[in-house]
Amino acid sequence: MAGERFDVIIVGGGITGTSLLYLLSNYTDIKKVLLIEKYDSLAPLNSSSRNNSQTLHFGDIETNYTISKARETKRAAEIVLRYTMGLAPAERRRVIAKCQKMVLAVGEEELERMDKIYSRGMRELFPGLKRIEKKEIARVEPNVVKGRDPEEKIAALLSDKGYMVDFGELTRSFGKRAKKSKSRIILNAKALKIERNGGEYEVATTKGNFSSRFVVFATGAYSLYFAKSLGYEKNLSVLSVAGNFYISRRVLNGKVYRMQTEGIPFAAIHGDPDITNPKITRFGPTVTLPLQLERHRNDTMLDYIKTFDFDVATMASLKRILFNKDIQRILLRNISYYLPVVGKGLFLKNEAGKIVPSLHHEDLAFASDQGGIRPQIIDEKKGSLVIGESKIMEDGIIFNITPSPGASSSLANSIQDVNKIADYLDSSVDSGKLKKELLKDY
Ligand SMILES: Cc1cc2nc3c(=O)[nH]c(=O)nc-3n(C[C@H](O)[C@H](O)[C@H](O)COP(=O)(O)OP(=O)(O)OC[C@H]3O[C@@H](n4cnc5c(N)ncnc54)[C@H](O)[C@@H]3O)c2cc1C
Repeated sequence: MAGERFDVIIVGGGITGTSLLYLLSNYTDIKKVLLIEKYDSLAPLNSSSRNNSQTLHFGDIETNYTISKARETKRAAEIVLRYTMGLAPAERRRVIAKCQKMVLAVGEEELERMDKIYSRGMRELFPGLKRIEKKEIARVEPNVVKGRDPEEKIAALLSDKGYMVDFGELTRSFGKRAKKSKSRIILNAKALKIERNGGEYEVATTKGNFSSRFVVFATGAYSLYFAKSLGYEKNLSVLSVAGNFYISRRVLNGKVYRMQTEGIPFAAIHGDPDITNPKITRFGPTVTLPLQLERHRNDTMLDYIKTFDFDVATMASLKRILFNKDIQRILLRNISYYLPVVGKGLFLKNEAGKIVPSLHHEDLAFASDQGGIRPQIIDEKKGSLVIGESKIMEDGIIFNITPSPGASSSLANSIQDVNKIADYLDSSVDSGKLKKELLKDY
């Protein structure tokens, strides 16, 4: 196979792959890095602004996170923020915008849970996170209160760290700013097969063969597929959690998240502005389990089945996950939102109407061309779903599997990979420059 030789090959042109390309070409002495993407542009899938919630996650309003997960998420988001601060104003405006952000608790049980979380170290970690009552909510987000049953108790945590990000633009920014003399991007190049030959990996693609000493798969749900093709992590499995959106005219000033259920890795349905269209509000993402590795692509079903491990341990874990009452409730509800005739009404009653009570049926439309897949790893040892990203590291190869908040943690994740790659290739990282430009406060 062999073909043109590179020091590092990155497979996948989403935010994970391009952030790594950017860092390797600008902050290390590695000379030749190749990124291949199977579609005709960067960020065609989950990193596109149409397919995710555009939230820079800091961990302050994610009420299912532990304090240590919130701290780690905050640190990662600060790196993205710092990167965007280095952009020229016109580009920065396309990539990121500050916006109001809160988590809303509705009813006694949610209020109690919110207060418990707030007093469990969140106040110290996020000094700008403020608990607000109905009156203040009505001032900053009037439609959350308008039309609501006056007897219904509500309160919220209002964050000073609200940002919406066009992660597709951010991906393209990384691609554009990767040092051209050291990096190459080839589009429409689908990786078909990878083999190990001595100390080299050989990657066969639809645009020819390439080889390198180090390979990184940044292919979303497909990363586990390729890991398994090389015989790694036979014991892991992936659950594709699809998410779609409903849209309405703009009814919210900022992001309104809702209380998340403990131990559930995906966010409860929330309302968000759209950085690409200030006239609308998006509600979502929904939660379904399609047998696909890419949303709306039935031709990825066979690969999904190949990636899913149908052994006893996986099936036992799956049974445990699906028998969890909270997961069952979420799944059944969400399936109903896709039903013809009644789906929209149910979504309004159970989700969007909980955030904006005065919203009407005719205000909402299903955005059939938006949505993506969160590849959630099944931890067979614990019989549960892993919260956040997973990384498989083997000899000269890394596989990144990136559910939410993978876009917010893209640079932090890639910094880990850069260190690992530089170590392996006996190359050096310009950590002074990295610290000065991206990690200043750490
Ligand atoms: C509904 C939803 C909402 C989300 N909301 C947020 C949010 O608000 N904030 C946040 O931080 N994160 C969010 N996420 C998660 C975030 O979108 C992802 O973590 C992130 O986009 C993953 O980036 P990636 O580059 O790893 O994967 P992707 O963007 O999926 O990119 C993988 C790339 O690999 C390419 N590829 C696959 N196979 C091959 C092959 N054989 N050869 C060549 N190329 C290949 C694909 O074409 C694709 O371009 C959300 C995700 C979803 C689905």
